[in-house]
Amino acid sequence: MPIEQILLLTVGVLACSCAGALAIRLTNARLLGLGWLSAAFAVGSLTSMLLYVSYALPPLLSVAAVDVLVLLSFALLHLAVLHLVDVEITFQYELLLLGLQTLSDLVSLHYGVPWRIRVSIAALLLAVQSGYTGAMLLLRVRAGTRVATWFNALLLFAVTFLQLMRSRTVAFSPIRDGAALMRLEKLTCLSYLAFSFAVGFGIFWLASSTLLIKLDDLASLDPLTRLYNRRVFLRWCERVEARSRENKAPFSVLIADLDHFKAVNDKFGHAMGDVVLCAAVERMQDAVRGIDILGRWGGEEFVALLPGASSEAALLVAQRVRRNVERSVVPVGKRVPGEDSQGLHVTLSVGVASFQGEGDTIDRMMERADHALYAAKASGRNQVSVDGLQVPDFFSLRHARTGTQ
Ligand code: GH3
Ligand code: MG
Ligand code: MG
Repeated sequence: MPIEQILLLTVGVLACSCAGALAIRLTNARLLGLGWLSAAFAVGSLTSMLLYVSYALPPLLSVAAVDVLVLLSFALLHLAVLHLVDVEITFQYELLLLGLQTLSDLVSLHYGVPWRIRVSIAALLLAVQSGYTGAMLLLRVRAGTRVATWFNALLLFAVTFLQLMRSRTVAFSPIRDGAALMRLEKLTCLSYLAFSFAVGFGIFWLASSTLLIKLDDLASLDPLTRLYNRRVFLRWCERVEARSRENKAPFSVLIADLDHFKAVNDKFGHAMGDVVLCAAVERMQDAVRGIDILGRWGGEEFVALLPGASSEAALLVAQRVRRNVERSVVPVGKRVPGEDSQGLHVTLSVGVASFQGEGDTIDRMMERADHALYAAKASGRNQVSVDGLQVPDFFSLRHARTGTQ
C-alpha cells in the first residue's frame, strides 16, 4: 500500500474517531477523558493531512509543524489520562517537551542539521511522552480498572519501545536510500494507525470502568464516612450467615451509637458534628479486625459484622471499639466553657449479638443487638452489652488489677 493511501486512511479514521469521542463526551459528561481524547484524534488527523500534502508545503509546515503536532496529539492523550485518573490537569512537562521539539525543528531547519538527527530527536521526545503517560497510568492503577489500565499502559509502552527503536535506527543504521527511509516511515504511519484504534478502545474501556466504580461507590458507600450503607452491609451479613450455616462457624454483629451526640451538634454545629462522626469512625476502624465489616446503620449509629467471632471474641472487639473511641480527642477549633480546651471527648454504647445457629436470622440478631444497645444506654452509656446483659470491661478489669491507667 503506498504511503499516500495509508495517510489518507489515517486522516479518515482519526477524523471519525474524533467525531465519535466528541459525540460520546457531549452526550455523556460523566465519561471522563473523552474530550481530550477527541482533541488528540483531531490533531492526529490534521497531522496526517499535512503529511499527505507535504510535497506542496514549505518545510516549516511539512517538517516542523508535523513533528510538533504528533507530539501534541500524545500530550493531549496524556491529559485524557490525567482526567481519567482524577489527577489535577497540568501542562508543564508537556509544554517543556513541545518547546524542545519546536526548538529542535527550528534549529535543524535553520542550520541544515541532517534529517537523521531531527527525526531521531523527534522519536526520542515521543518515546519520553508516551512512556511518561504509561507510567502515570500504572502509578494510579485501582481495583476494578486494573485490566483496562494495564491495557492502555502496555499500548503506550509499545509506542515508547517503537519510537526508541526508530530513533536508534534513524540515528545509527545505514539508511542510505530513500526507499529504506520510506519503508520505515510507512511502518511508523501504520503503527500510529493501529495505536489510534487500540487507544480509542482502551480509553473508552477505562472511562467506562472508572464510571462503573464511581456508580458502585455511590450505591454502596455512605458519602460522609465512606462506610458501607445499610443495604450493602445487610448483603454482607447474608453472605456470612450462609457461610456460617454451612461451616457451623460462629459470627456476631455489633451496633454502636454515639452517646449524647445531639449535644455535640447543638454545641459545636452540624459541620463539626460531621468531623466528630468521621473521627469516631476512624477509631472504630482501628479497633476492629481486618476481616470485620463496618457499616453506617443510619445517623450516628454504626454496625460491625464480625465473621468467625464467638460472643466472647465479639465482646473483646466491642470493648476495644468502645475504648478506642473513648480515648480519642477530636480537636474542635473553638473553646467552649466546660470543655477540654484541647478538644472534645465522645463515647459510644455498643450492643452485641451472636449467631445462635438453626432458627436464628440476621433480622433477629440485629434486633437482639439493638436491645443490647438500649440496655447499655439505660445503664449509663459508654458501655457494652450482650443480648441485653451488661458486661464488665475486660480492659478496665485488667487495668484495675495491674493498677495501670
Ligand atoms: P443517645 O446517647 O441517647 O444516643 O443521645 P443522642 O443525642 O446521641 O441521640 P439522639 O437520637 O437524640 O440524637 C442523635 C443526633 O445525631 C441527632 C442528629 O442530628 C445527629 N446526627 C445524625 N446523623 C448525623 C450526621 O450525619 N451528622 C451530624 N453532624 N449529626 C448527625
Ligand atoms: Mg446517640
Ligand atoms: Mg441514635
